[in-house]
Amino acid sequence: MKIVPEVTALVPDMKAWRHHIHAHPETAFEEVATAAFVAEKLRSFGLEVHTGLAKTGVVGVLRNGSGSDAIGLRADLDALHIQEKSGATHASKIAGRMHACGHDGHTAMLLGAAAALAKKRSFDGTLYFIFQPAEENEGGGRVMVDEGLFERFPMRAVYGMHNWPRKPLGTFAMRAGPFMGAYDIFEIVATGKGAHAAMPYAGKDPMLFVAHAISALQTIVARNLHPQDAGVVSVTQVHGGDTWNVIPQEVVLRGTVRTFDPAVQDLIEQRMRAIVAGIAAMFEMTATVRYERRYPATVNAEAETKHAIAAASAVVGAANVDTDPVPEMGSEDFSFMLQAKPGCYVWLGAGRGPDTPNVHNPHYDFNDDALPIGASYWVTLARQQLAA
Ligand SMILES: [Zn+2]
Ligand SMILES: [Zn+2]
Repeated sequence: MKIVPEVTALVPDMKAWRHHIHAHPETAFEEVATAAFVAEKLRSFGLEVHTGLAKTGVVGVLRNGSGSDAIGLRADLDALHIQEKSGATHASKIAGRMHACGHDGHTAMLLGAAAALAKKRSFDGTLYFIFQPAEENEGGGRVMVDEGLFERFPMRAVYGMHNWPRKPLGTFAMRAGPFMGAYDIFEIVATGKGAHAAMPYAGKDPMLFVAHAISALQTIVARNLHPQDAGVVSVTQVHGGDTWNVIPQEVVLRGTVRTFDPAVQDLIEQRMRAIVAGIAAMFEMTATVRYERRYPATVNAEAETKHAIAAASAVVGAANVDTDPVPEMGSEDFSFMLQAKPGCYVWLGAGRGPDTPNVHNPHYDFNDDALPIGASYWVTLARQQLAA
């Protein structure tokens, strides 16, 4: 393990920042205090600071030498709507809000890297430290891109990192191509004809629609997709009916679809619409489908993935860098930045053993031992990419 010396000196600071942010979690586009904290720290390191991009986003700029090359390093600021049960001394002070995805750690690591690189400026060019809001559900990354992130801060490539409790501490994982899934949501409303439950012949029962639809939707993956193509269709909500003896008028199904390939995404949506229309016709009722594409797949570029592997290998050794991990269908709004710029998103191993709570679990807490590893990766990547 080669922790960058300037980073080693910053470990107590990074821990303190992480614990402060963890105790004061803020959710999508409301990261006002967190953004102010980040901006104040960046200014104290001597960076030029831009605020207000995507409401609560912050961009720190660090220039050195005469080179015109530039890269961006990105962290996320937001917490989740979860009641914390970690029992940590720095646990959330806000009911129902929790840094359960480790974005507190991501922010602390990128702040640490900014401090280290500002202290020892052994690079030539411009570094952009991107702190984005609303990674969870609300697509703050997309808003930053839409509001001109890459026009205001022109850069050759952009890099992202997420702590990964299911990989051991002291490891990294990344791969070129699709790495995390596209995130779509759907809502199906079946409208029949309400009736007395003892006289079903007088109505059109939407419960029957539900019984057939949940099974039939699973045939999309099982019977329509090529066996080598990946896709997930999950019905996660069923809402309908109020009492024992009434056939309801309407039932609502909701769920999510995950894919890596836009052609597979198109196929799933098209088959979902056809299956829903067919079942509705079979039972003489109407059904509508609202299908919304939220986050595209996270797709790493070839060259930037090689750069990320080189930086990670310099920190933890090549033997501890998994360059062919199995992709996950979880999603990540860094995908919007990767659609606009080549780059690479990596997993930072953060596991403490097989029982480590995963992200989004109320017992989860970012592994502080990962702070110097992640910050060293950022510093090494910056120095390798903008070599003086
Ligand atoms: Zn998350
Ligand atoms: Zn996350």
